[in-house]
Amino acid sequence: MRELELYVHIPFCVKKCDYCDFLSMPADESVRRHYVGQLLEEIRQNAPVCKEYQVSSVFFGGGTPSLLSGGQTAEIMEELQERFQVRQNAEITLECNPGTLTRQKLALYKTAGVNRLSLGLQSADHRELQKIGRIHTFEEFLESFDLARKAGFSNINVDVMSALPGQRTKDWLYTLKKVLELRPEHISAYSLIVEEGTPFYERYGEDELRRQRGEVCRDLPSEETERQMYELTREILADHGYLRYEISNYAKPGRECRHNIGYWQLTPYLGLGLGSSSYLEQARFSNTRKLEEYLKGNWNDLAEILETVERQKGRADVSCGQGELVMLDKRAQMEEFMFLGLRMTAGIARKKFQKLFGVELEGVYGEILRKLQRQGLIEQSEGRVFLTEEGISVSNYVLSEFLLEVETSSSE
Ligand code: SF4
Repeated sequence: MRELELYVHIPFCVKKCDYCDFLSMPADESVRRHYVGQLLEEIRQNAPVCKEYQVSSVFFGGGTPSLLSGGQTAEIMEELQERFQVRQNAEITLECNPGTLTRQKLALYKTAGVNRLSLGLQSADHRELQKIGRIHTFEEFLESFDLARKAGFSNINVDVMSALPGQRTKDWLYTLKKVLELRPEHISAYSLIVEEGTPFYERYGEDELRRQRGEVCRDLPSEETERQMYELTREILADHGYLRYEISNYAKPGRECRHNIGYWQLTPYLGLGLGSSSYLEQARFSNTRKLEEYLKGNWNDLAEILETVERQKGRADVSCGQGELVMLDKRAQMEEFMFLGLRMTAGIARKKFQKLFGVELEGVYGEILRKLQRQGLIEQSEGRVFLTEEGISVSNYVLSEFLLEVETSSSE
């Protein structure tokens, strides 16, 4: 039976953080209730189309999924369990924010089958938390972490963020130290990206451009400091038994996030909820990003989409867009295989490339691989290709080298 991952989007937050460009917004209880009702309908309508798939992971992301009541989350989980074939040992993750968890909620998550929590901390420093517009304190995070452990959660990720405005290397190391004291099973450590359209862009957009040009910045840490933070993170976490398995993700052995690994390995996934993306039958498509549309029941009709995909299949080597549906031709799939797979420290397997695409990796990317290897940015051994440390530090450049020329045409 084919493997499928499910992503469930809960787009609500208490308040928007200043750096955030995710699809999330505050909403009152009645909107949240209406949303859950529609989400359940979407599951009921689309799950039967996935009869041939077995679900290996479920990821509740957001937004702040823990803003829903425990009962609402349990209801969604029940619907998923009933309508999809969810494997016994499926990884079921729920993203939570400090200040939104209670003992009762955690107990309901547990009963509903959630077996992994991802807690958004970002910083252990109160001033930094305020600066980036987070609603919680470090103490509230500690309380939530403790509650989660007491509720029996033995697989917890903590999200932290480096390169914050005004942050010095020693400030960042303080956050890492405080997180390590808790011994979570997994740590995601991303650098701040100043995204357009956020309050942060207004404040730090110019500084970000200066940083990209390698110039002295006013508030943001310089490129060099950012790199130093990254390298220290890897060293310190390795000393504490966390293996880096992806550019920004570290885990105790065996605690890597299976859902994300599936995503980087091009496992099919179905997104449910507002704006969620899917990758099925070599096609990418997304739900509407407009909340009012979603609340009216205007989500994707999966059966209809897969029929369209089937019709488009004859157009093998053409990439075409239809609304929010994009067919990935072979070239686009090869690109995705390379630039998602190379994010992982284990890199990609030549044999898998050959099996998936029926051609040798060398035949498609031979010249690029040789060039990147000469530059010391990739290594090749035991049938695998992976980024070197130097390659990771300029990963955007390296990954962009795997883009092939693709013809694009639109269909009605
Ligand atoms: S809690 Fe997460 S999703 Fe919500 S606004 Fe903050 S960063 Fe964005």
